Amino acid sequence: MRVIAIDGPAASGKSSTGARVAQQLGWAHLDSGALYRALTLASLDSLGKGGTGKGEGWSVQRVLALADGLPVRLVLVGGAFRAEVAGVDVEEAIRSERVTRHVSALAAIPELRAWANAQQRQLVAEHPAGVVVDGRDIGTVVFPEAPLKVFLTATPDERARRRLTQQGQVLDTERVRRESQALAARDEADASRPVAPLQPAVDAVLLDSTHLTLDEQVARIVALAQERFPTVHRLTGA
Ligand code: C5P
Repeated sequence: MRVIAIDGPAASGKSSTGARVAQQLGWAHLDSGALYRALTLASLDSLGKGGTGKGEGWSVQRVLALADGLPVRLVLVGGAFRAEVAGVDVEEAIRSERVTRHVSALAAIPELRAWANAQQRQLVAEHPAGVVVDGRDIGTVVFPEAPLKVFLTATPDERARRRLTQQGQVLDTERVRRESQALAARDEADASRPVAPLQPAVDAVLLDSTHLTLDEQVARIVALAQERFPTVHRLTGA
């Protein structure tokens, strides 16, 4: 199967790296976090701030009904899957602080993970040319048979600096500290959940990108892809 799984903690560069690797191989790129984020956005907008805790407003059945009814889905646009809710592109809206704060609680619910996994498997089956999929459980749960699995990490401070730079924010020590703490809290939630916790697959290649540029990370994964998929060629250096 032509799947490259890239897993790792929040803001480790999975999506930017995955998008570039896909572009160089002529494959599609699927950011599985976008599915969980789009589902969270749809729930916040349609069900209110309730949350998924005991006694709160978001029952699993209501969230699943939204997922299928609106629908919440990923659509391939120019080589990358983009999130849509009710036919509207939500790629920007799903990156908001509000969605980021709620997404891990929703992603811990087994029925919602089963829905997300089914979406990903169907999209990959529809794109036999090859898909680079990034997330938390791609190599362990969604595509355990992927021939290439990469676990991408970087120190929390470096990840915080990258995230803030991406948002165009000034890098003062206090801001980096706060962002680093927020990322660590989300990683802890994702790594300690009973279902599909964030962890490297036993056969994943560990790639610490703390001291690598984006181009270097991409080049390493593309080189691995050429080893693991002998018929795959690098199309472009762009
Ligand atoms: O990758 P991103 O940070 O956008 O993912 C948002 C959240 O979605 C993660 O913090 C995690 O809770 C959830 N997620 C997941 N499994 C995936 C991808 C994302 O649980 N495969």
